[in-house]
Amino acid sequence: MQKTLEKPKLYELPPLPYGYRDLAPYISEEQLRIHHTKHHQAYVNGANGIIEKLEKARKEGVDLDYKAVAKEMSFHLGGNALHSTFWENMAPAGKGGGGKPDNLLADAINRDFGGFERFKKEFTVTATSVEGSGWAALTYCTDSKRLGILQIEKHNVNFPAGFPFLMALDVWEHAYYLDYKNDRAKFVDAFWNIVNWPKVGEWFQSFV
Ligand code: MN
Repeated sequence: MQKTLEKPKLYELPPLPYGYRDLAPYISEEQLRIHHTKHHQAYVNGANGIIEKLEKARKEGVDLDYKAVAKEMSFHLGGNALHSTFWENMAPAGKGGGGKPDNLLADAINRDFGGFERFKKEFTVTATSVEGSGWAALTYCTDSKRLGILQIEKHNVNFPAGFPFLMALDVWEHAYYLDYKNDRAKFVDAFWNIVNWPKVGEWFQSFV
């Protein structure tokens, strides 16, 4: 049967799955609100702006600097995807956040890292050692059937195609500076109290 094309749409800032105050004291209300409504929104707006610019140029038959456009689009789309994952892979401490993974994800972490504490150490060092702005992300390779940790610079550098995010941690200064000043390690340490393991486990199960 012939399929019909869906109507293209612009990107939208996804709402947080909790309130702005709910991740305190690990992430303060002010820090979370600015991060979500200003920083993440800027990447959504950036991607939409490029879509509109391309559409306009095509309509008018003028050329753009496509190399620059593609690079900028990669940055904004990476920012949107990573932040969307990050919000979902956190939950208020004690209300879904914190603790340890269970079920299949726990088994996979034990198998692939040799235990949860070893995984936690590797992920922590990956996050704290990002040069400048970037992310640590837990991923699952559906080809080799292994979990792995990525260190992403900016939103889109050193990131291989086709690896789904199971958990992302933003270590841009804008993610923690209001709460922790320059102490990124303290923020990374706090993050473990608000990891939404049920959600990360659910995403993992969708790929195995
Ligand atoms: Mn961010």
